[in-house]
Amino acid sequence: MTVKTLKDLLDEGVAGRSVLVRSDLNVPLDGDTITDPGRILASAPTISTLAEAGAKVIVMAHLGRPKGTPDPALSLAPVAAKLGEVLGRNVQLAGDVVGQDALARAEGLTDGDVLLLENIRFDPRETSKDDAERLALAKALVELTDMGGAFVSDGFGVVHRKQASVYDVATLLPHYAGTLVAAEVEVLQKLTTDEERPYAVVLGGSKVSDKLAVIEALADKADTLVIGGGMYYTFLAAQGVSVGNSLCEESMIDTCKELLERYADVIHIPQDVVIADSFSADAEARTVSVLEIPDGWMGLDIGPQSVERFAAILSNSRTVFWNGPMGVFEFPKFSAGTKGVAEAIVEATGKGAFSVVGGGDSAAAVRLLGLPEDGFSHISTGGGASLEYLEGKTLPGLEVLDGA
Ligand code: ADP
Ligand code: MG
Repeated sequence: MTVKTLKDLLDEGVAGRSVLVRSDLNVPLDGDTITDPGRILASAPTISTLAEAGAKVIVMAHLGRPKGTPDPALSLAPVAAKLGEVLGRNVQLAGDVVGQDALARAEGLTDGDVLLLENIRFDPRETSKDDAERLALAKALVELTDMGGAFVSDGFGVVHRKQASVYDVATLLPHYAGTLVAAEVEVLQKLTTDEERPYAVVLGGSKVSDKLAVIEALADKADTLVIGGGMYYTFLAAQGVSVGNSLCEESMIDTCKELLERYADVIHIPQDVVIADSFSADAEARTVSVLEIPDGWMGLDIGPQSVERFAAILSNSRTVFWNGPMGVFEFPKFSAGTKGVAEAIVEATGKGAFSVVGGGDSAAAVRLLGLPEDGFSHISTGGGASLEYLEGKTLPGLEVLDGA
């Protein structure tokens, strides 16, 4: 792939030009408080580089899943405020996506200004399956730019989506990968070619069905595949063991059975778990063998013996990819498994291993559990996108940047 980068755009000269930037600013909100600003922090470098270089920066982003219509609860207002704070410059928020306010504000931009358009998914054409509808929105977005406009794709978390602000805009303007997208692709390439061994993959999180394709793709590459989290219980059920009220995807049991047989030498599963009598932070907790989950109880974390065994493998690995928490880390009583595994990865990184964290909740766990972010080689901002890349799928938002 030959993809032009932000550096190429800067070399061409960007002062006075309007540049549309697609960022991933989809942060978790509690009311209008941002609970984890990770994606804003990760998006800031590209925006600030362009503004510093004198571009008129127009940022496109989405928040949550509005149903193609304005929803005040999903306004980007808190995001605009936080972005301004992070950039140390004023960030205007348009009152609409490509309406009168956006147009007027875009026309009023001067060199170095930053304008954030309102939640791009307030416009139903953004995610439309109809090519013509998406293209019409893309054209309206391009109308916001002067002559000499450019498009910078920096929302790695959305490059697996064929959407107007991700894909179609790139077909209309000179296009470039932002620093975040370029960095993510470089990291993922390292995980799929010439990985240093031993190579360990740690998968957890809630659903096997979400992660099946990546299990299949990585089980062949990795030396070890550690499985924990909610998805583990379907594997346990596949061994004919009672899982009580733990998460279990009945329809995936046969698939899990096959995976356990096919990759018997590669897959490592817990031998003990922390169980709870209800799904809550103050549930009663007990540590038991995986063979002894009583009826009415549910597994919410991996147990200490499993952590020790997984940590021994991980701390001596040279390449580690981790996606999905080992337990319900949001509840302190059930966060030790995730923390223990993460600490082992940090230890490996300290010894020179290349480590990557993928997945929104896994990245949030790193921050919530107070682990050093620089204890990992890379924390990916794109859960679904990084998984699809590792599965070997074609990502429309990357493919469209090729051959700039
Ligand atoms: P990521 O976003 O990192 O890809 P997922 O979205 O797949 O991760 O899963 C994260 C969620 O899985 C977390 O909210 C966590 O609470 C939940 N989870 C982990 N272990 C369990 C479990 N044993 N039972 C229920 N939920 C779990
Ligand atoms: Mg998630």
